[in-house]
Amino acid sequence: MWKFLIIAIAAFLLYKMFMGDKTKKETEKKKETEKKVAKGEMVKDPVCGTFVPLDGSIRVRDGEKVHHFCSYECRDTYLQRIEAAKDDTKNIQQ
Ligand SMILES: [Zn+2]
Repeated sequence: MWKFLIIAIAAFLLYKMFMGDKTKKETEKKKETEKKVAKGEMVKDPVCGTFVPLDGSIRVRDGEKVHHFCSYECRDTYLQRIEAAKDDTKNIQQ
């Protein structure tokens, strides 16, 4: 009986240690991303909200601004949104 209890406690502690470690790693990863964003090495994809590295992103120039995307899918979604917005302005002016 005692043996079983000790094994159960040990398993629980191991589980807690493992889970704690995982959470810590995720927090560190998040901090790392935040640091890179602050430095300007990473930017937020305006479509899906993912952070993408500046040198590995898909770029779209929109006037003075350059937008960065994680995939061509996101880029196309964004371009469609711009087009839709332009159409709206036209409609208002008419
Ligand atoms: Zn994206």
